Amino acid sequence: MAYGDYDGPNKPDKGHENGSCNRTRCQAAPARWYNHGSYSWYCDSCRNQIEFDRVNLRDWQQNYQPRLKHPMFETREMMDARKEVA
Ligand SMILES: [Zn+2]
Repeated sequence: MAYGDYDGPNKPDKGHENGSCNRTRCQAAPARWYNHGSYSWYCDSCRNQIEFDRVNLRDWQQNYQPRLKHPMFETREMMDARKEVA
């Protein structure tokens, strides 16, 4: 399953950690990437498409990264590792 393959109703765990991807036309599991922009969880392939989109990436690096000091998407492990450093 990839973005655009899904055309059904919203799953109850859509956008939740380890649930279904937050993108309505995807909703693949497991959603293990947290998007700090939308506060929802995404699957591996949507994370790649969204985070490394040229416009999104530049926007994040210019407007958010300097203040937040982390990438747009993180796994739970990445966020936990950051907390230990802080
Ligand atoms: Zn997805």
